[in-house]
Amino acid sequence: MKKSVIVVGAGLSGLRAAQLFHKAGYKVTVLEADNHIGGRVMGFELNNGQKVDVGGQWIGKTQKPILELLNELGVETYEQYNKGQKVHWRKKCSIKTFSSSSSIPPLNLFALLDLHFNVISTLDRLMKDVNLDYPKKSKNAEYWDSITVESWAKSKIKTTSAKELLDVAIRMIFGAEAKEISMLFFLMTLRSGGGILNLSETRNGAQEFKIKGGAYNLAYLLKEKLPENSVLLEHQVTGIQHDEHQVTVFSGDKSFTGDYLVLAIPPPAQYKIVIEPSLGLPRNKLCEKIFMAAMIKIYIVYEKAWWREKGFAGEAIPFDNSAVKDDDGLSPFSMVFDGCDDNLSVTALTVFIAGKHAIAHTKLPQEETKTRILNLLSKLFSSEDAKQPIEYIEKNWLLEEWIGGAPVGICPPGCLSYYGDALRQPVGRIYFAGTETAHADVGYMSGAIQAGERVVADVLKYEGVEI
Ligand SMILES: Cc1cc2nc3c(=O)[nH]c(=O)nc-3n(C[C@H](O)[C@H](O)[C@H](O)COP(=O)(O)OP(=O)(O)OC[C@H]3O[C@@H](n4cnc5c(N)ncnc54)[C@H](O)[C@@H]3O)c2cc1C
Repeated sequence: MKKSVIVVGAGLSGLRAAQLFHKAGYKVTVLEADNHIGGRVMGFELNNGQKVDVGGQWIGKTQKPILELLNELGVETYEQYNKGQKVHWRKKCSIKTFSSSSSIPPLNLFALLDLHFNVISTLDRLMKDVNLDYPKKSKNAEYWDSITVESWAKSKIKTTSAKELLDVAIRMIFGAEAKEISMLFFLMTLRSGGGILNLSETRNGAQEFKIKGGAYNLAYLLKEKLPENSVLLEHQVTGIQHDEHQVTVFSGDKSFTGDYLVLAIPPPAQYKIVIEPSLGLPRNKLCEKIFMAAMIKIYIVYEKAWWREKGFAGEAIPFDNSAVKDDDGLSPFSMVFDGCDDNLSVTALTVFIAGKHAIAHTKLPQEETKTRILNLLSKLFSSEDAKQPIEYIEKNWLLEEWIGGAPVGICPPGCLSYYGDALRQPVGRIYFAGTETAHADVGYMSGAIQAGERVVADVLKYEGVEI
């Protein structure tokens, strides 16, 4: 008889695992709490019928797992628009532009040296000591996991400008603030993704390409490879019982039994499930400690890409300063990018509100956020066109019931060094996927795919199947 696997969570990780289990001859059932698949990749239909990615979208050329999947599915990519001038507005300086061929805004010589030597080179060196398989075996793991990135930065970085730039990069990569993140987790993420510059860059970095047809479409292409009715929507898993022979999963008044279970959900979501017998202290503590980050993604759609006509790349960083601040002293958004698609059927700016900005803006009415953003865009790009959008859409991931935040689950200090081994270690017949458990590209779509592939390899290995 065919062996069976139940996968909880129809994000990219769960669907990739399900597709490979099916290919290997297993009977697969995917249970998804929401009324759509994709999880943190999601399409939103604009008034003109075109869809945009309100979740994950960019990929980079170092992200092998997702590149191989795209190749397998025959999906193409196109370059993020990156021509013309970028804009930045820092404390104590007026709005400045710089060429899109450079990723680093113009700084004075002292700040530039500080950034290159004390931040980029030091982080590149430190991350090499991280053991991706067992983070607590990394060199100085106990120490790095006892401090936040903020404490490290304060002891190392000499200039305000270099610190401000690191803060922006962290907010955009993690959706969190330096003071919230364990230094060990930070270094692990950098190592898995090729370093701070790679993760921050559009050109030659993790934001270089977008996926034709949308990143959300990958979830649908994976689902197409599964037998009909094997993905069940609106099936929140609330209970699991397991022993050495099988696993039974409960959703509403239904139950499903299989030989193996894959939990492909964000770690904190495990806490909503009653699991008997318990998965044990390390796994439970890990899931209790990891918290989901804060990110809001906004598309502001215009009749035309007016910023391109004015010679702008569409990318701007408004630092928190007295000119851009709102009542609580924060910028209305963290960063903006050109959000057009390759054939200009969507002409939009993509705005990110992340970390403390996202938490502050979640308290505001949407109309207020919109007005503040449009006013700031108009100042940054010196254009009244910014105030004339034809559509405005806002996706606040903090309000997602089943995911609870984005783009990734964050480890605070005292998490990885104590409980990190439980990240991927199966408990009986229960295996763990999801981007947070990846070896490569942790937090990214590519990581989600790699983690899905890993659980399949682990189960097949356990079964003694040659792969
Ligand atoms: C705004 C935003 C921007 C991003 N930008 C990028 C980017 O540019 N590039 C990039 O590579 N990555 C990006 N990411 C991150 C990327 O989208 C994620 O890393 C990836 O999609 C995670 O996939 P996953 O399968 O691990 O988890 P998820 O997509 O979170 O899937 C988990 C699924 O489990 C379901 N679930 C939870 N609890 C239960 C339960 N009890 N029962 C049943 N189902 C349950 C959830 O509903 C969800 O569908 C971004 C994410 C966001 C939100």
